[in-house]
Amino acid sequence: MTDKEYIKNLRVPTKEEPLRILVSSCLTGIKCGINGDNYGDYPSVLKLLNYDNVKLITFCPENFSFGTPREMCDIHGGSGIDVLEGRAKVLKSTGVDWTEGMIKASEKMLEVARNNKAEICVMMDISAACGSHVIYDGNRYDENKKYQIGMGVCGAQLTRAGFKIISQREFESLELLYKKIDNEHTIDPNAKDFDQHEWYVGYFKK
Ligand code: SF4
Repeated sequence: MTDKEYIKNLRVPTKEEPLRILVSSCLTGIKCGINGDNYGDYPSVLKLLNYDNVKLITFCPENFSFGTPREMCDIHGGSGIDVLEGRAKVLKSTGVDWTEGMIKASEKMLEVARNNKAEICVMMDISAACGSHVIYDGNRYDENKKYQIGMGVCGAQLTRAGFKIISQREFESLELLYKKIDNEHTIDPNAKDFDQHEWYVGYFKK
């Protein structure tokens, strides 16, 4: 089922029975980024804080395993699912292996999702942990850094368990989500999902 179909099929939430959304903590302004910041504001997600028929469950998997501040890490030799299946590693930018800690972080995030019965997840793309659509292919600090289509380790863990993830840049899907939450919301007809963005099309579909 596509992200948009999934969202259309979500129940209509109420104040008494709010929609349970698992969110990457940094997307809600929590300063859990590698340098102790929140990577800037993402209005497409911050708006979720305004609704009383939404229950946000925030979690930062890297903070759970490695604390804040911490070093940057990326996946080498595959994507998040390859890490879970032992074919790829998570390495700090200095080369130290963080694979085990990242897998533990993903297991904790899955536990949080299950305990809270998350109905959808909104997560920070590109992250080696929270990525859901595109991540770096190896070290992002390399001169010839590359991207790959794939999930981070936590994205893969949640998806494998049946949870649906959209990213903060899936503007069309987010518009549908806001319409589901707020019937008065007017859908922006120009909103595009990640795979329709110029950069994505140019980079992956040449
Ligand atoms: S691990 Fe996820 S929640 Fe934490 S800072 Fe990175 S993208 Fe945000």
